[in-house]
Amino acid sequence: MTGTADTPALSLPAIAVACPDCGAAPGFACMSHGRTRPRRNDVHQARTRAYQEQPEPDDGPVDGCPECGQPCEYEPLYDSGTKEGPAWLCTGCRWRVWSVGI
Ligand SMILES: [Zn+2]
Ligand SMILES: [Zn+2]
Repeated sequence: MTGTADTPALSLPAIAVACPDCGAAPGFACMSHGRTRPRRNDVHQARTRAYQEQPEPDDGPVDGCPECGQPCEYEPLYDSGTKEGPAWLCTGCRWRVWSVGI
């Protein structure tokens, strides 16, 4: 039972951050009822606040990719396979650096 069709909460922007209230990971719905049931329609207020208080991303590699010189794009939830988090990705060679200051 995943997907946004039966869980509208998954389309909320605050889903992108972890919930400090129930501990839901980024991308997962909040849990209620003793953490046994997902909250389908909304998220905890603390999670919405955490999302709103997220620091702005740093400027990233302002001169572009150090490898190939192409511009880099900010990816707030990049998954490298071993780590997930905010990163800057090169649009050319896919060079990557984790965003600092977060
Ligand atoms: Zn929560
Ligand atoms: Zn590059």
